[in-house]
Amino acid sequence: MAELIKGAPIAAAIEQEVKERVSAGGGAPPRVVAVRSTADPASEAYLRRQGQAAERLGLHYAIDSVAENATESQILAAITALNRDAATTGIIVQLPLPRGVRPEVVQQAVDPAKDVEGVHPANLGTLLGDSPSIVPCTAAAIMACLAASGRKLAGLSAIVVGRSRIVGRPAALLLIQQNATVTVCHRQTADPAAHFRRADVLVLAAGQAGLVQKDMVKPGAIVIDVGVNEVVRDGKRALVGDADPGVAEVAGCFTPTPGGVGPVTVAMLWRNAVTAWELVRRRASRAR
Ligand code: NAD
Repeated sequence: MAELIKGAPIAAAIEQEVKERVSAGGGAPPRVVAVRSTADPASEAYLRRQGQAAERLGLHYAIDSVAENATESQILAAITALNRDAATTGIIVQLPLPRGVRPEVVQQAVDPAKDVEGVHPANLGTLLGDSPSIVPCTAAAIMACLAASGRKLAGLSAIVVGRSRIVGRPAALLLIQQNATVTVCHRQTADPAAHFRRADVLVLAAGQAGLVQKDMVKPGAIVIDVGVNEVVRDGKRALVGDADPGVAEVAGCFTPTPGGVGPVTVAMLWRNAVTAWELVRRRASRAR
């Protein structure tokens, strides 16, 4: 049976690092502002949890409520104001955005140094070099889970399933930096199972329950299951990953869903918030 890579201890270690960096930095702590432009119960609960976590870690957190169903230009104006506000060191664009508002336009408006989600093209671009700046939270979480497996990635065959801008693609670039040999699979990949079977490292970020069955996994492989899918099991709703549970019988180690990559992704937001704070402060001291 595969060894479990649980997210909670990895997230706890990241949170500890966040607290230490905030206290070492001194002065006013990071101030993260979430821009909210739609109201639905799920995102309200999410924002509440973000606020509680920030407080626990010693960060300031605020919500900037733009008018509900705001236009793109209203949202852009709110972001411009936060970019200019010296006290704000991090900005989160809360999704979903109102209908008709283009997420990529809004994300590009955020000052790259304050982009705690790591989704601005300037930050994504740094993934092509060897010193990434602010890394998208989920991709960073994937790498932290891999590090927790204790296995060296150099020379391993890594298959990333999913090529989204903020999960699959950045994860592939980070794996290349670790000297893995990387293949990215997507919906149009011919015979994806043939790729899965040769993976020493299998990163699943497709969002399709049951995509990978145990006969598609190389014995001993590291399986990082990012997918979050809602299914009905025994009449009850449940969250599952992209891998069938039987994969655990063949893999060397794997991340459970829930309780694997998810908590690490959340912790990475706060690590990014501290990185942004440090960047903003450095820039301000250079400008003085
Ligand atoms: P997305 O829909 O933007 O991208 C999915 C990608 O998977 C696409 O590139 C698509 O081509 C590929 N894909 C879909 N079905 C496939 C198949 N059958 N075979 C091969 N490729 C296939 O999604 P995303 O934002 O990248 O998220 C991916 C999954 O990860 C979702 O389930 C999402 O909920 C989950 N997610 C989890 C976390 C976490 O912290 N655990 C964070 C972000 C996203």
